[in-house]
Amino acid sequence: MKKPIILTVDDEIEVCNAIERDLRSQYGKNYKIIKTYSGHEAMDVVRQLKKRDDQIALFLTDQRMPEMEGTEFLEQAIKIFPNARKVLLTAYADTSAAIDAINKLGLDHYLLKPWDPPEEKLYPIVTDLLNDWQANHRPPFEGIRVVGIQWDQATYQVKDFLTRNNIPYQWLDLENNNEAKRLIQVSGDPKPDLPYLFFPDGSSLKKPANIEIAERVGLQTIATKPLYDLVIVGAGPAGLAAAVYGASEGLKTLVIEQQAPGGQAGMSSRIENYLGFPAGLSGSELTHRAVTQARRFGVEILTAQKAVGLKSDGPSKTIQLQDGSELISRSVLIASGVSYRKLEARGLDKLTGAGIYYGAAMGEGESVKDKDVVIVGGANSAGQAAMYFSRYAKNVTMLVRGESISSTMSQYLIDQIAATPNIRILSRAEIVEALGTTRLDCLKIIHKDTHKEETISACALFIFIGAVPHTNWLGEQIARDDHDFILSGTDLRPEHNFKSRNTSRREPFMLETSMPGVFVAGDARHGSVKRVASAVGEGSMAVMFIHRYLGTV
Ligand SMILES: Cc1cc2nc3c(=O)[nH]c(=O)nc-3n(C[C@H](O)[C@H](O)[C@H](O)COP(=O)(O)OP(=O)(O)OC[C@H]3O[C@@H](n4cnc5c(N)ncnc54)[C@H](O)[C@@H]3O)c2cc1C
Repeated sequence: MKKPIILTVDDEIEVCNAIERDLRSQYGKNYKIIKTYSGHEAMDVVRQLKKRDDQIALFLTDQRMPEMEGTEFLEQAIKIFPNARKVLLTAYADTSAAIDAINKLGLDHYLLKPWDPPEEKLYPIVTDLLNDWQANHRPPFEGIRVVGIQWDQATYQVKDFLTRNNIPYQWLDLENNNEAKRLIQVSGDPKPDLPYLFFPDGSSLKKPANIEIAERVGLQTIATKPLYDLVIVGAGPAGLAAAVYGASEGLKTLVIEQQAPGGQAGMSSRIENYLGFPAGLSGSELTHRAVTQARRFGVEILTAQKAVGLKSDGPSKTIQLQDGSELISRSVLIASGVSYRKLEARGLDKLTGAGIYYGAAMGEGESVKDKDVVIVGGANSAGQAAMYFSRYAKNVTMLVRGESISSTMSQYLIDQIAATPNIRILSRAEIVEALGTTRLDCLKIIHKDTHKEETISACALFIFIGAVPHTNWLGEQIARDDHDFILSGTDLRPEHNFKSRNTSRREPFMLETSMPGVFVAGDARHGSVKRVASAVGEGSMAVMFIHRYLGTV
């Protein structure tokens, strides 16, 4: 816990040293005493302290200083630390300035120089003021502070990245939070690019890319070895399971993840059908456990790094990353999963990120408090999101294209939704238009049976429709089906040339793609089941076939 600060200002060196000495001997155990010799120097210190989220409990400033008078300094300083107590050190002739300051600045006290003996003239006053400050003070949040605008896309992406990587942060909305305004003021940047991230050491980042944040908070972004036995693309359930099995069986294993470990499962508020967790568990808890387990076995996980290319040079595979670097591995597992298909309707593109989101934004519960939320989709992911947001929102409306959710959703979720009074299901309904200027306000929908249109209020829309595999970074050597899902094992056909690329002319192993030594597991695979347990199962199985492959080269 950082100590709160008492800041003194006096241009006379001897007086400044004396007041500092007296304050330190009495309060040094619980407070940090900082002395400065002018109002300008003190203001620089005040701005730095604000950026580091230090707390000033008390200003004690001389009134008569040539460059900036004490009252002028206090007037500026309390804009940044409005709750600090204010004491002016005056000569007898400054009494009227002090009285003015009481009325104008809410000065708490003025002391006449000299203050000897301090036990009588200084400490009783300062102790009273510090006690008062402590009584009204809430300890600061000691982590990253994110200043941005609630419905801004870049702000949303940064918050999502931090949430999904389990990095605690304090959210400060510039439009209605005074502390956010003060932070932007001390940054000296009148029109900053948002979001602005302030770190506890006083440094900051403006509208950062994920990789900048990852580097800044100490997540691994660079590989440490020249050669790996197994490189896995994607840290969803399939990738993490393969990482645990691979590393525990002695393979030098590295995982590349473009966003945050956990994949789609990490966005799930409650997975209730995963073996061994009768009460269910959240996606972030499952991820946290899996990542801890993988790291315990020595797996390297690169975060905020994206694989953009894959080449095979006989037994060695090269994986190209978006930052231009390359990794070399003896085998590769593609576990890059899927993401949601785009919904087409007027106004959706413009407001995506400004109230419209693909998948569930699990950090956004508070932001929809007592408002209306709409969810599109009828599968389990949509049902889970509806249950999650029903805890915060006034009403949750689920728009389903089909007759009902019974054929697309698990029964346990159907039962939970039926028992939740603030969720309603509109079946055979579709979005026609999203309306709003800077952010989503409402949605125009059409009831397909009656062809009637209706406008419903919506502060947020979460879309969960169909899946598109993350495979467009792969070249033609990795054979795919018509929907871009990766073919493997017995699904490969002669025209995919597996045998001609493979010196031993063997048949492909199960889960092996058309490029020998490159395997696939989880949702990105053609024919996959699209469940956490099956992704985990395939990731674990793939390691066995990777061992067999490595035995052939
Ligand atoms: C909201 C929600 C709730 C769900 N609930 C359940 C449930 O209750 N029960 C259940 O069984 N299933 C559930 N599912 C489905 C389940 O989560 C998926 O089937 C499972 O996550 C698939 O795992 P995966 O590892 O194959 O892929 P994903 O989980 O999709 O992970 C793939 C990872 O690869 C990364 N990636 C992609 N391309 C690249 C690249 N080029 N470079 C680096 N990284 C890359 C992605 O960022 C992602 O993290 C849910 C899905 C969602 C979205």
